[in-house]
Amino acid sequence: MRIVFLGAPGSGKGTQAQRLVERHGIPQISTGDLLRAHVRDGTELGRRAKSIMDAGQLVDDVTILGMVRERLGAADSARGFILDGFPRTIPQAEGLDALLRELGKPLRAVILFDVDSQSLVKRISGRRSCQNCGRVFNVYTAPVPVPPPCNGQCDTPRLMQRPDDAEATVAKRLTVYDAQTAPLIDFYRGRGLLKTVDADASLEAVTERVEVALK
Ligand code: AMP
Repeated sequence: MRIVFLGAPGSGKGTQAQRLVERHGIPQISTGDLLRAHVRDGTELGRRAKSIMDAGQLVDDVTILGMVRERLGAADSARGFILDGFPRTIPQAEGLDALLRELGKPLRAVILFDVDSQSLVKRISGRRSCQNCGRVFNVYTAPVPVPPPCNGQCDTPRLMQRPDDAEATVAKRLTVYDAQTAPLIDFYRGRGLLKTVDADASLEAVTERVEVALK
């Protein structure tokens, strides 16, 4: 199953991707996570990307496409993948098209996470991720359950807010989404791949809607 999760920052793509990984045994490929790993490791790419990310802007298409090409070449992508936060521009979508054509592995579907824009800022500002296991929680919509579900990797989650989830940057990211990423909705609708899921619901309900959309 090769799918793209499309939606504004805070629409729940990452959280739902994590849930589908467990159900379907295919990897979540998040370009945001790949970039954050570069920032953490202090690579040249990470040093370049950090200020762009902190400003809520997009990293350039050539860099992103190179990173995705390398990641899709890894063995765990052979059975399928969930692309989360990529593509984010029309050139990225065209680059993905070309790459998947080359690999002979077309996309099955693009799931659009539809969320009322009023609730996005609250959803993003409530987001916290565990520094030990990478799981994402939300102080408003998905608090850490007791006991914490961290796969035995950590007993006590170490929760942190991403620097670009601060309210000032969130507004910029939403503007960038509207200008550069929202045009992908028509791009994929035109290719007959778009499935829209109403994502203003509980975690479980949204997961079920995604599963239905993928049938
Ligand atoms: P995310 O974790 O998907 O919200 O991404 C965090 C930040 O990483 C974004 O605000 C961008 O600065 C950068 N980023 C992630 N994915 C992409 C992408 N596909 N194209 C350009 N920039 C990206």
